[in-house]
This record gives sequence, C-alpha cells and structure tokens, in this order.
Amino acid sequence: MGKLNRLSTRYALYFAASLTLILSITLLLAGFFHYSGTQELRRELQQSFSSVHSASVHATLRASGRYLSNRLFNPLFDLDISRLNEEIEQIHAWLDPEAVQILDADKRVLTDGTKNNPDYGAQVELPLDVRPGEPVIETASDASIMVFAIGHDDCLHGYARIRFSDAKDRALLASMQQKVDELWQDSARQLLLTTFIAVGLMVLASVLIGWRLSQSLSRPLRAMSEAAEQVAAGRRQLDLSGGKDDELGRLAHSLNDMAASLGKADHLLTRAQEIAAFGSWEWRRDRPALILSHGVWRILGLDPGAVDASVIGLLERFESKDRARVRAIIQGGSGATAEIEVRVRRADGETRTLILKGEPSLDAGGQPRSCIGTLQDVTEQQEARQQLMLLANYDNLTRLPNRHLFYDLLRQAIKKAHRQGHQVALLFLDLDRFKAVNDALGHAVGDKLLEQVARRLKSAVRDGDTLARMGGDEFTLILDALVDKTAIHKTAERIIASFERPFAIAQRELFISVSMGIALFPGDGDSSEMLLKNADSAMYAAKERGKGCFHFFTQELDRLAHERFVIEHALRQAIERREFALHYQPQVRTQDGQVVGLEALLRWHRPDAPDSSPAAFVPILEDTGMITQLTAGVLRESCNALLELQQRGFHHLRMAINLSARQFQDPRLPAMIDAELSRSGLSPERLEMEITESTLLDHDQSQRNADALAERHIRLAIDDFGTGYSSLSYLKRLDVDILKIDRSFVDHLLDDPDDAQIVTTVLALARGLHIESIAEGVENADQFERLRQLGCDLVQGYFVARPLPLSVLLDWMRARPSAP
Ligand code: C2E
Ligand code: MG
Ligand code: MG
Repeated sequence: MGKLNRLSTRYALYFAASLTLILSITLLLAGFFHYSGTQELRRELQQSFSSVHSASVHATLRASGRYLSNRLFNPLFDLDISRLNEEIEQIHAWLDPEAVQILDADKRVLTDGTKNNPDYGAQVELPLDVRPGEPVIETASDASIMVFAIGHDDCLHGYARIRFSDAKDRALLASMQQKVDELWQDSARQLLLTTFIAVGLMVLASVLIGWRLSQSLSRPLRAMSEAAEQVAAGRRQLDLSGGKDDELGRLAHSLNDMAASLGKADHLLTRAQEIAAFGSWEWRRDRPALILSHGVWRILGLDPGAVDASVIGLLERFESKDRARVRAIIQGGSGATAEIEVRVRRADGETRTLILKGEPSLDAGGQPRSCIGTLQDVTEQQEARQQLMLLANYDNLTRLPNRHLFYDLLRQAIKKAHRQGHQVALLFLDLDRFKAVNDALGHAVGDKLLEQVARRLKSAVRDGDTLARMGGDEFTLILDALVDKTAIHKTAERIIASFERPFAIAQRELFISVSMGIALFPGDGDSSEMLLKNADSAMYAAKERGKGCFHFFTQELDRLAHERFVIEHALRQAIERREFALHYQPQVRTQDGQVVGLEALLRWHRPDAPDSSPAAFVPILEDTGMITQLTAGVLRESCNALLELQQRGFHHLRMAINLSARQFQDPRLPAMIDAELSRSGLSPERLEMEITESTLLDHDQSQRNADALAERHIRLAIDDFGTGYSSLSYLKRLDVDILKIDRSFVDHLLDDPDDAQIVTTVLALARGLHIESIAEGVENADQFERLRQLGCDLVQGYFVARPLPLSVLLDWMRARPSAP
C-alpha cells in the first residue's frame, strides 16, 4: 500500500514539475527574446536619434551659412574689419561657435573677431567645392566646421569659416542614452520580477493541479486497485462508490459487477466441486502456503484454513507410505503431468480414497516453478466399482465366482497349464432332485440350501481350487496344476462324502446328493467350451448311473452326446412330419375288473428306426421346449379316441393324458382343453391330466392352470407318486382326484416289505383324503390280487394290457367278457 501511495504522489509531482519546467522554459525564452529585442531597439533608437540630431544641425547651419554670407557681404566688400568683428560677435551670440574666421578671396585670414587677431594673413586650407550659396560642413573628430563663400559666382569677396564644438551635442546624446539605459534597466527588472512571479504562480498552480489530480484520480484509482487486490485475495463483495457517470464511475461499477460475478462463479465452482467431491490446489516455489480450493478442505474434512496449508501440513493428512509420492506430485517433481491414487485420513477419522493429479510448469532450467492440480474423492465410485465388479463377477447368493468369472478363470488355468505342461480338471456338479426341493418347499428354502451347499463345497476343496456357481443348482470346480487322477478322485469323493450329512434348514433336515462330471485338459478338450460341454455330459452320465456319484468323461459319453444331438435333430423333423401317435393302456377297477379309463401314451414311429419309448425322447423334447408343440395334437387325438370308443358302445371311459412340466406350465393349456371339449362335446370329467410331483407347484402358472382345471371339473392325477419329493400339502391345495403309485413300488410289492409298506401307506393316505388310487406297472395276478386286497381302486399294467393302438384296443375291449 505504501508503495502505491508513493506512486500516486510521485506522478502528481512529476506532472507539476514537468508543467513548471515547460512553462518556465517558455517564459525564459519569451524574456530572452523580449530582452534581445529591446536591446536592439535601444541601439537603433540611439543611432536614429544621433543621426536625426546631426541632420537637423547641418540643415540649420546651411541655412545660417547662407544668411551670414549675405550679412557679411557688405562689410567684407568694404573690408570694414570692425563691422566684420561686430558681425562675428553677433554670430557668437547666435550660434555660440568655438571660433569664427573671415577670409579674403585668397583664403587669408582677415579677422577672427578678436582685437589682436593672431592668425591674420594666415592661409587656410578650405574644401574645394565651396561655392557661394552652398555652405560646406565638415565634420572633425571633436567639432563641425562650416565654410561658406561670401559674394557671388562672378564676384567672390572671401570666405567665412566657423568652427562649432560638438561637446554639447555629445553631452546631450550621452544624457539621452543614459535615460534610455535607465528605462531599459527598469523594464528588465520588471521583466525579471514578472517572470519570477509567473514561475511562482505556475509552481503553485501545478502543485494545486497535482493535488487535485491526486484527489480526483489517484484516490479512487488507489481504492480500486486496493479492491482489485482484495478480489485477487478472495473477497467477492465490493462496494466501490460508483455514483459518478464518468469513466471512473463506470470502472467502479464494472469492478463491483466483476467481483459479484466472480462471487457467483466461485459459488458455482464450489458447489460443482462439492457435488463432484472435487478440489483444486496450486503450489508455487516462491510461496510457502498452498492455494487450496474449498473442495480440498471439504475432502480433507477440515474448515478452510483450519490447519497449516503448507506442503508439510498437507502431507500429514496422507498415509505415511504415500507421502513421498504426494510431495512429488504437489511440487511437480516428476516434471510432467502425473496422477496417483492415495488414501487420506480425514479429520473425522474416516479413511478415503483420492485421486491426486498435478501439472507442473517448469522454468528455463527445467525445474518446477509452480504446479496446479486437482484432488478428487473417489471412495464412493471405487466402492460402486467394486460392488459392480462383485455383481458382475460373483454370485449374489453364494458369493462364489459366477459363470462369467468362471470362464475367465478356466481360460487362465488352461493357458497356464498349457505353458507348464500340466493337466487341469474341470468338475461339473449338479445337485440331484434340487428342483423337487424348490418346488415343494419354496424358493427361500432352495436358496438357503444352495448357500449351505456352497459352504460345504468350499470346505471340501483346497484353497487354491476354483469353485464357481454356474446358476441354478450347478457348480463348477477347477483343479489346477494336477499331476495324477488320484487327486481328482480324492477331491470328488470328499465332495460326495460331504453331502452325506443332512442340511439343516428351516427346522428340517434335508438330504441331497450331488452328481459330478469330470473332464480333463488337454485330454478331453483343449478349449474351455469343450471342457465344460464334456464335463456336463459326464455329469449326466453320473446322474443316469444313479445320482450322488461322479463320472469321468469318456469317448462313449461323447458318442452318446452326439447321439442325443442326432435325436434332437430327428425330433424336430418328426414334429414337422407328424411322426407321433398315441397308444392307449386300459385302467381297470380291482373290484370287478371293469375298464374305467385309458392312459394315452406317446409313440414315435421313426421311419428309419424302431419305435422308441417316450422315456427316451420326452425328456429331450422337454429340455428343448419342443414338447409344447405336441400338447394340442395329443389332446385332440385322445378326445377323438374317446369319441370313437363311445361310438363303439364304450361309454363313460376316462382318458388320462400325460403332461410334462413345460406343458402344464403353458398358459395356453386351459384354452386348448376348452377348444377340444367344445369340439368333441365330451364332458370334462372324462379327461384326466397326469402330472408328476416334480412338475409341481410353487410355480404360479402351474397353480393357475391347476385351478382352471378344477373349475372345469377336469380330473388331476399325480403320476409316479412316491418317487418325487412327496410333500402332502399340495394334495389338498390342488384338488387332486387320483394318485398313481409308481411302478417301482409295485415291482417289489410282494418281495420287499419296505415297498409294501409304502404302497399300504399311500393307499391309506388316498383313502383318508378321499382321493382315488391307481397302481401302475402291474404285471401279474399276484400283484393284482394283493393290490385289490390292500384296497387300491384301479390298476394298470401289462397284466391287464400293454399300451395298444386304438384299433387293437377296440378289438381287445370287444373281446372282454364285460364288453357291451
Ligand atoms: P408313465 O406316465 O408313468 O407311463 C407309464 C409307463 O409304464 C409307460 O411307458 C408304460 O408303457 C409303462 N408300463 C405300463 N404298464 C407296464 C408294466 O406292467 N410293466 C412295465 N415294465 N411297464 C409298464 P411309456 O409308454 O414308455 O412312457 C414312459 C413315460 O413317458 C410315461 O410314464 C410318461 O411319463 C411319459 N409319456 C408318455 N406319453 C406321454 C405324453 O403324451 N406326453 C408326455 N408329456 N409324457 C408322456
Ligand atoms: Mg403316466
Ligand atoms: Mg407313471
């Protein structure tokens, strides 16, 4: 500020001094020219005065000469000396000459007016051109001499010579010059005085002007520059008086506006930095303190200025291991733009993750002069990224790597094994009958079971092994860097053994087993896809072998998988070519042997191969979803069969139609049945839909379809009862009409007391719930008799009849003793 004061005063002084100097020089020049002009004038005046004086004296003398010539004529003519002397006396009285001489015609002195006349007769030298009437005046050093002739041209009597002393004239001139000199000196003095006063006035005026300038310009300018300094230091509220409508006023207004808009911009920036969890900073080599934006303070969890804003002060906030790197960034140590991720301990104790970026500017020697940069709190983003990473790569339920991450890990394992010449084993695990648990006990229980299964699997494998969940009840295990097959065997056995203990969920004990398929790199496939496909087929083989076991991939399995592919293709064509037909198996009452119903069983008449059992191809149709394309056809053909039988006199027969899970969950099912009923005119009670327990029934659409059937009084049969996850609650909920005891129980009904007990129990259950019962797979009379005794309502099986084409069935029916 002091510097600024001096500056304004100095400029005012400079201004006044230069003004004074210019004016003084002007005045001095004017005085000088005036002085030299006056001097010249004085000289010319003196000269013209003396010349005028001498001219007038000469003219007077000439006139006097001619007059005197006339007066002296007679006395000279008469040579009257006394009269001449009188005349001379008169001349002395008139002209006060120094001397007068009267000469004769020979220029000899006659008289000089004195009595003794010392020069009498002396020859006097006269000018040549003296003629009568034309006096000649000669100028000597100290006098003027007038000579004139006395007489006429033809009669010259003599001459007169009068000598005038010019002492008087010189005295007069001298006094006149003195007067002029005095006058000049007076005027010079006055000039000097005037100049002096003028200079004084000018200095005063300059000082006044300077002062006034400093008042009206410097002061507001100083105020503005102070304000601008404050703005630079961060103040954003200015109130510079801007009343005047001049440039200064407008400048003041503009400064106020500028500070206000800077304030707004600051506010916006601060908000933006807050929202973005962002801050900016600046380091300068010549300045100990860092310039920190609000955002930086906020990120550090401090109030602005709360701690020392020096590099050292700031470094304390960072974890000690990061400090060297932070210092290098802040002080531009790397010499180029740099960015690091660091951890900071906030004032409230929370640890945050920050991105610190710096961009140095270097001096001519390549040393950092300053550095600007940003600080961004990325804790949330990083957490979100980690969360996303978890979501994208890990299974939410079991926290195991998901399918996506599994593929990556498998690929890496294969690459590594390829490099190091090792084997990799891929185990594909699938829980047995998990679907039944899910259907019967609900998804919540299913999820809990999966969590526990995951835990158990983890505990059964080594830490280095990679366990992943592929989805549903499928898991995979990668065994890395293997030397021999025994290690795989051991792991697989450990896993199977770990499932021997029950899982405790929702106050129940659940038993579940796992089937495993194993494929090896490089023997069973050199790509992840191939390995997975082969481990999957090996897993199916394990399931077919009887579940709860493992199976290594073999070429035979590969062949089977290939066969399945071929069948799948053939089935697609079979649907288009309508190669399917129905056979019908009678169901008879145990009490009187009456045929009360038929079961429609699907047959595929392959043109180039023998008929195959639905047990072989229905699961494939089910897997691929093609099965639903058959529903309408099966319904139509079954109803047609009933109509045909009716025409032949077999009234009141029922038709049991098998529906797989997908078929039963098809929302179009009720409409398809309605269409068939109205087309055929059959009453709904004559149709019976067979579903297995596993088709059940926490599935919303299954429930809706079951309700729709019940509304229409269409019968519902539970097929293969006892083999599924027998939950009894659905029997009530579903309005089941008939239970079909599975063939496997009937098979050993007579020789296995357990099976006999199961059949007895099921029959008691059915009776208790007022549900009809039927046993399937009855192959002999003993079984038939036993079932009749146990109170089984109906039987079906080879003992009664095999599934037959309609025409054969009609013959069979007609051959029955009770036929109409
Ligand atoms: P299922 O509904 O339990 O059918 C009974 C199976 O036992 C039939 O095999 C039948 O031929 C066979 N069977 C009947 N009596 C005896 C017997 O005394 N001894 C022996 N050993 N077997 C007997 P099939 O026809 O091969 O059908 C197999 C399975 O295919 C059926 O089991 C059923 O689940 C399914 N299926 C059949 N037709 C259809 C259909 O149209 N749609 C759907 N979705 N599945 C069908
Ligand atoms: Mg059936
Ligand atoms: Mg069955």
